[in-house]
Amino acid sequence: MIHIQNYIDGVFSDPIQNEWIDNIGPADGLVYGKTPNSSSKDVQAAYEAAQKAFIPWSETSIEKRSAILLKIAGLIEANLDRFAAAESKDNGKPISVARAVDIPRAASNFRFFGHAITQFYSESHETKSEKTINYTLRHPIGVVGCISPWNLPLYLLSWKIAPALAAGNCVVAKPSEVTPYTAFLLGEICNEAGLPKGVLNIVHGLGSSTGKAIVEHPHIKAISFTGGTETGKFIAKTAAPMFKKLSLELGGKNPNIIFADCDYEKMLTTTVRSSFSNQGQICLCGSRIFVEASIYEQFKIDFTERVRQLVVGHPSDESTQIGALVSKTHYEKVRSYIEGIDPTESRLLLGGEQVHVEGYENGYYLSPAIIEVDSNQCKLNQEEIFGPVVTLMSFTSDAEVLAMANDVKYGLSATVWTNNLKRSLMFSEKLETGIVWVNTWMQRDLRTPFGGVKSSGVGREGGFEVLRFFTETKNICINYK
Ligand code: NAD
Repeated sequence: MIHIQNYIDGVFSDPIQNEWIDNIGPADGLVYGKTPNSSSKDVQAAYEAAQKAFIPWSETSIEKRSAILLKIAGLIEANLDRFAAAESKDNGKPISVARAVDIPRAASNFRFFGHAITQFYSESHETKSEKTINYTLRHPIGVVGCISPWNLPLYLLSWKIAPALAAGNCVVAKPSEVTPYTAFLLGEICNEAGLPKGVLNIVHGLGSSTGKAIVEHPHIKAISFTGGTETGKFIAKTAAPMFKKLSLELGGKNPNIIFADCDYEKMLTTTVRSSFSNQGQICLCGSRIFVEASIYEQFKIDFTERVRQLVVGHPSDESTQIGALVSKTHYEKVRSYIEGIDPTESRLLLGGEQVHVEGYENGYYLSPAIIEVDSNQCKLNQEEIFGPVVTLMSFTSDAEVLAMANDVKYGLSATVWTNNLKRSLMFSEKLETGIVWVNTWMQRDLRTPFGGVKSSGVGREGGFEVLRFFTETKNICINYK
């Protein structure tokens, strides 16, 4: 049994009120450990440690802060197998994915922001006629809160922690209670890398207890949150009267728009990935597929055939392409969409069935589902399912598909497949999303702004955008007449 503990002031500790949550492995449905359900008392202890560490850390040279972050990156890489095994066990994702994507990206996050902070700059503006010079200072905010979801556990937690620390803040972080394991391992790495105690504190627990206590804490001055839109609303409402800085990365229902003039083979291979990577549990997955009518029937046949070949299996099996869904609750939520299919407006073309993996009959395995829908207005196209489920629909004109792509409350990302330059420019401009991919999917450059519009959130992560979020800006105007 794994005994996960909080990491506060550089030390591992049990929750003050001794309340615990079971860790359940999605691959077999069995309890394999326990995680603290921390209360506001633990959050207060984490805050006090962070507050005490803040002045020395914020005054630590950029070179030293950078060196520590690079060391953390190196140590994550040195422990790749251990981290990947933990992530896969906790989340149900194939070990091959954890090893090739999640953990290397967590290391890249620390390395990228370790370098980025050495290049971060402010502006100055001189007005000769008035003999003034304005310059801008960007100071760390203080103690900030980072709250992350279960789908890419260490990947998304480190995407917040690394820039926050690089910019000189101290952090109270809460990973998802569903996947706390790699965040727990990160504490050890931070100690080994020489991160001063109290600079990073990780408190585990439910959103309704630990997460809420972080958001409600009057002196935690900024919250960087990734998770569901409903939770984002709660955070926005709670934080507003305290005027906290907020970055909210929320849900998505992303369109994947396929024109007949695209590079068909590349599109097909990528569309299988963009539909079902990580069991479809990536906020960027293209869950609404719109295909130009002239190639619709052919696409339906080819796509269904490719998806049929995907191997659903135990996450630790190297040949597995689709692992287990993260939890029983989530599995049941995804299943409910399939069971609720209304035959008058949609047809299940493939999958959506429980898969019995030998020896792991209690695991949460679901075969990837393709559903043909008649209208973009149906529930399957309007609500975020966040699982291995995509819908297919045909379209006949640019205007029609653009309208459908935008006719949803979310606006995180979109993908467009076309070799027509004018069309790709027009769609890139008119799609109501924070990210547009043309002839690709999820190719990430960490320098670029990342985030959504509408109910997909506010604020941008990545590059200098997030370093600006994690700093307080002050302008100074000097008259030298
Ligand atoms: P969630 O909102 O349930 O939980 C996310 C985190 O918030 C967890 O750590 C949880 O404990 C915490 N939390 C829950 N209630 C809280 C509260 N009242 N106060 C403070 N914290 C609270 O989301 P989830 O189910 O873990 O993740 C899935 C969602 O995340 C999906 O909607 C998905 O689209 C979204 N997501 C978005 C992005 C993005 O970049 N936009 C990336 C990944 C996932």
